[in-house]
Amino acid sequence: MTERLYYTSDATEGRAQVIRCTEEPDGRYAIELNQTLFHPQGGGQPADRGWIAGIAVEAVSLRGDHVVHILPAALTPGEVEMQVDKDVRERHSRWHSAGHLIGYAGEQFGWKPVKAHHWPGEGRITFTPGEGQDPLPDASALMAIIDGWKADNLLRHTEIETGRRKVRFGDLPHYLCGGTHVKQLADVGAMQILGLKMKKGQLIVTYSLD
Ligand SMILES: [Zn+2]
Repeated sequence: MTERLYYTSDATEGRAQVIRCTEEPDGRYAIELNQTLFHPQGGGQPADRGWIAGIAVEAVSLRGDHVVHILPAALTPGEVEMQVDKDVRERHSRWHSAGHLIGYAGEQFGWKPVKAHHWPGEGRITFTPGEGQDPLPDASALMAIIDGWKADNLLRHTEIETGRRKVRFGDLPHYLCGGTHVKQLADVGAMQILGLKMKKGQLIVTYSLD
């Protein structure tokens, strides 16, 4: 099991031990470390980019409990330096955190967020209705709530409880989430709701960031 340092740390530089390096069917190498700063693709968020031992990380994925880093070259077991691309991390964290805000805002209208896709340029959150006849929110009502939270600059809080990671902003409800987030909501920056549509009884809210 790889220790996921990004669960509790925003550091983009650090060291780790290479514990396994195997060749992939495509000729690249799958590197396992004892601990990692790299967020793997999953949970609606793309993988981090960066470098391990100065070699570009081309993909990061989760295989069981192990985070696997795909590199074009092999690494020998031992200590290596990890560097996460800060710009990419920041962009992913902003898009992901914006998705949380849309989820929270939809919940204010009784809708339950059930699916999130936070990829830059493709942001969308899918909701199902709650118990009752939930009114359909409109984009400006959602944005008014979100802008209030951003103006309050709510701070991120992360807790690990019985192996599960809980993330919340201010006193908003926590989400069980493995992604990366901004430290404070002002860091999300300008965001827009692009549209709301109903599809097979689900509400899909699409969003974008500057
Ligand atoms: Zn999250």
